[in-house]
Amino acid sequence: MYLRVVVPLVVAMIAAGVAGGLGMTGRLRFVPDPAPGRPLAILEEVPGPETGPVCPVDGRYVDEPATGLHPEVLAAWQRLVDAAGAKGVRLCLNDGKRSNGQQQREFDASVRQLGSAELAARYVLPPEKSMHVKGRAVDVQPQDSAIWVERNAPALGWCRRYDNEYWHFEYSPSYATAGCPALLPSATGS
Ligand SMILES: [Zn+2]
Repeated sequence: MYLRVVVPLVVAMIAAGVAGGLGMTGRLRFVPDPAPGRPLAILEEVPGPETGPVCPVDGRYVDEPATGLHPEVLAAWQRLVDAAGAKGVRLCLNDGKRSNGQQQREFDASVRQLGSAELAARYVLPPEKSMHVKGRAVDVQPQDSAIWVERNAPALGWCRRYDNEYWHFEYSPSYATAGCPALLPSATGS
């Protein structure tokens, strides 16, 4: 049921993005171009996959395609998956790239659930603050795989960032050289 609704929506969003050039919010953002001469426009408006096939090692999670991540992050994710695989560890990408629209829907759902934007902001980041929207964050499941990443992947530039999210990792080349920053209590600071 879920797939039947979501897949056409994602396809429509991709089509609209390609045809329109502008994302849902109408803002036009450019990010540095990995292929000279062709600006990689509006990464923050690019929708990520909303779901994916069931994670083969734990059916509670999905394993999304890594599409939509920042190109540098996508390459680093592939290196991470390969390094884990070489040790017999299967990483599932339970959530990766989100668009502004996807993040806004999560935020709005939280507002409806909790009753106010102020309360919602304690639990869900608004789009402009989310590293998933910027294409620089991945949520890794199951927990054993996330623990492997936390222990072994800082040298590859992947760091866990939040005390309350064992699954959330962000990539930066500087982490590989300077090490991981101290864990923050949560994404929203609460
Ligand atoms: Zn995350």
